[in-house]
Amino acid sequence: MHDTIIIGAGAAGLAAGQRLRAAGRTPLILEARDRIGGRIHTDHTHGPVELGAEFIHGERAATWEAVRAAGLRTVGWSDDRRRFASGGEIYAADDPVTSRTAALFAIATSYRGPEISVAALIDSLVALDDPACRFALRWLANLEAADTQLLSAAVLTHERELATSGDTNFHILDGYDRVVVQLADGLDIRLSQAVERVAWDEAGGSVTLVGGGAHAARHLIITVPVGVLQTGRPIFTPPLPAKKRAAIDAIAVGHVIKLMLWFDHQFWPDFVVLSTDGRIVTWWTVASAATPTLMGYVGGPAALEIAALGEQGVISLGLSELSQLFGADAAAASLGGRISGWSENPWSLGAYTYSPVGIGNARAILAAPVGPLHFAGEATPTNGHIATVHGAIESGWRAADEVLAATSRKPI
Ligand SMILES: Cc1cc2nc3c(=O)[nH]c(=O)nc-3n(C[C@H](O)[C@H](O)[C@H](O)COP(=O)(O)OP(=O)(O)OC[C@H]3O[C@@H](n4cnc5c(N)ncnc54)[C@H](O)[C@@H]3O)c2cc1C
Repeated sequence: MHDTIIIGAGAAGLAAGQRLRAAGRTPLILEARDRIGGRIHTDHTHGPVELGAEFIHGERAATWEAVRAAGLRTVGWSDDRRRFASGGEIYAADDPVTSRTAALFAIATSYRGPEISVAALIDSLVALDDPACRFALRWLANLEAADTQLLSAAVLTHERELATSGDTNFHILDGYDRVVVQLADGLDIRLSQAVERVAWDEAGGSVTLVGGGAHAARHLIITVPVGVLQTGRPIFTPPLPAKKRAAIDAIAVGHVIKLMLWFDHQFWPDFVVLSTDGRIVTWWTVASAATPTLMGYVGGPAALEIAALGEQGVISLGLSELSQLFGADAAAASLGGRISGWSENPWSLGAYTYSPVGIGNARAILAAPVGPLHFAGEATPTNGHIATVHGAIESGWRAADEVLAATSRKPI
């Protein structure tokens, strides 16, 4: 009988584990994959390049605790100088399309009023064929990994107002995987141990593993991504309360495809981030890589369409769109590329969550404990830090604190 079993060795599960360890506990962490980190995963082909989480979002993000403890090097990355490109041509920084796109983005993220989707709000303000409309919607779809027809403008605004992590983004020059290593330090983590069933009652719970094996504990912390929970995995016996299941279904799971392309020289003019009207929606430069590298990013339903092209198809598409943009032979300079999608992977089934119209307080309901079951992960923050590494870390701390508080109330 363990004191606490944590399901999942992503940021939330590892942070929960560290909090319990600091309180003298020895939690058991069960991870389905053969690696730790979950949606943090770093490619090292040409220096660190991120397949999942890439930025620390904010100078006050909880992630900094592990970054500092590990002595990692970081560099600021600002999208203040975001540029836009259409038909292979980059708009001048003072082009009206740039300022009107920024204005629409600001309206959608400072909206107060009856619930309305971001797409409906922006469509009500400008004509659909206005390039600024298209750029703003694609920008928001990318950022939130969302279908903008579903994404709630009011909740998006509220979440952004609540967030206290700060506005500056940072790349971790040594790689995000070093944060994971730091978070995992000293913890009992068992890899390739997928939990198939969770049986529970008021006194505790037990888990059954895919392929056999079982463990029991007084407390369980579940950090399984919402995309996976929505498919009914793991199976809970008895089932989770109807309210909890409804909350899981009410949270939207977003999709992302990342395309990293490595080159032997830089053939593009200096830029930080470029939004295009091509199929690769956004490009940015990657400071942590050892060779000139561009990251292409497609979020929302478009990510699923792009993924259908397959890895070589997406790489060819990216090289062709870069050649068109920069008038250079991108293929000739290419050292290769890689795509990363999270929606097909059975242990994530999506990139990160967003808040659709009608979400209500589903995140708080998901986060609430049920008997010995505690819930953490990027979908559970109620302080606006959703869909981030720091939000996942904070949620792990919160779940661990719940376990500690519940234990201290019980007579020994
Ligand atoms: C493409 C992409 C880009 C992103 N960019 C950023 C960014 O720049 N900055 C940022 O802050 N955040 C970013 N994020 C979000 C961030 O990665 C996540 O919010 C965070 O890593 C989620 O941590 P988690 O612990 O909640 O979930 P996960 O990392 O998904 O961890 C859950 C773990 O549970 C395991 N698991 C699932 N089912 C079972 C089971 N049945 N049994 C055992 N284990 C199981 C999974 O394998 C996984 O390891 C990005 C995410 C993606 C996908």
